Amino acid sequence: MKLNAKYMTRNDCFTAGKKIAPNGIMVHSTATPGVMAADWFSRWNKSYKAGETNRQVCVHAFVDNKEVWQYLPWNHRGWHCGGTGNNTHIGIEICEPAGFSYGKGSTMVGYNISENESYFRKAWKNAVELCVRLCREYELTEEDIICHSEGAKIGIASNHGDVMHWFPKHGENMDSFRAAVRATLNKSSTPPNLPLGIQVGDLVEVKATVNSYYPGGATIPTWVKTDSYHVVTQVVSNRKPVLKGGKTCVLLGKKVNKKTGIESAGIMSWIDVDTLTVIKSKKPPDNQKLYRVQVGAFSNKENAEALLKKLKSAGFTDAFIK
Ligand SMILES: [Zn+2]
Repeated sequence: MKLNAKYMTRNDCFTAGKKIAPNGIMVHSTATPGVMAADWFSRWNKSYKAGETNRQVCVHAFVDNKEVWQYLPWNHRGWHCGGTGNNTHIGIEICEPAGFSYGKGSTMVGYNISENESYFRKAWKNAVELCVRLCREYELTEEDIICHSEGAKIGIASNHGDVMHWFPKHGENMDSFRAAVRATLNKSSTPPNLPLGIQVGDLVEVKATVNSYYPGGATIPTWVKTDSYHVVTQVVSNRKPVLKGGKTCVLLGKKVNKKTGIESAGIMSWIDVDTLTVIKSKKPPDNQKLYRVQVGAFSNKENAEALLKKLKSAGFTDAFIK
C-alpha cells in the first residue's frame, strides 16, 4: 500500500483545528464513479466560509486501487459522517470505479461486477492494509471498524448506505472486511503478554492494606477486601497490558463469597495487579510449566537428609526436601 500525505489546509475542517483520540475507523465509499484518491485534493481543499465550495466535508484519507492519499492528520476531527462518529472515528473513503451512475438513493446503475472485480480487489486490499496500519497505531482491533451505514444504525452517523450498497456486489460485507483486517493483524503480531503471571480465570484476593484500585483511582470499599474473592476476567485490552495510574491492571469480574463459596456478579473494576494475592491459579501459564523429578521417598527424615546431602555434593544444588 502506497501512503501519500498532503493536508487539505484550505478546508474549513482543517482550519477548525479540533483534535480527537481515535477509537474507531469508519469506512465510506465516495458514490462518485471514477474519481480517484489523488483527484480529491483539488475538489475538497476549499473553504466553504470563503464561498469556494458548497459542501462542508473532509475525510482523513481516500483509497483507490493504486494508492492512499491522507488529507487530514489521523487525530484531527474529520467531517465525514454527519454525526457524533466524527468525534471518535477516523474516516476513510474508498473510491469507486468509473463506468456507472447512481439512481435513486444509493442504487448503482450499470455497474459491471465482473469488469470491476479487479479494481475492487485492489482497492479492498489497500483499504484493509490502511486499517491494519491504523489499528496498530491507535491500538484498535477489527471490531473498532464500521462502515457509514453501520454508523447510521447505531446512531452516530447520517443515513447513508455506504459501503453496504457496494461490497455485497463482490460477495463481501463489513464482517468479511473486518475478518480480513483481523487475519493480517494476527499474522504479524505476537500474543498478548499477561502481566506478572496473572491470568483470566484466576481467583484473587485484594490485599487488606490497599486503599485505591490504582494510584489516583477510586477508593476500594472494605467489603471488596474482606467478604469476597474475585475472578480475573480480563488482563489485556486490544492485546496490550492495561496501565492505570502507571500500574499494570487487570479486570475483576465475578466475586466469590469467602465463607459460602457462592459466585455472583462482581465489581467489574480494573485494579493494580500489585494489590492482589492469587488464591487459586486457573492453570500454570504455558511458559511456567514445572516438571519435577523426585529421587526418593522416606519415612525416616534422616535418610532423606542423607540423600539430599549426596545430591548436593553431586552438584544438584537446587535439590530440596518436601
Ligand atoms: Zn459515507
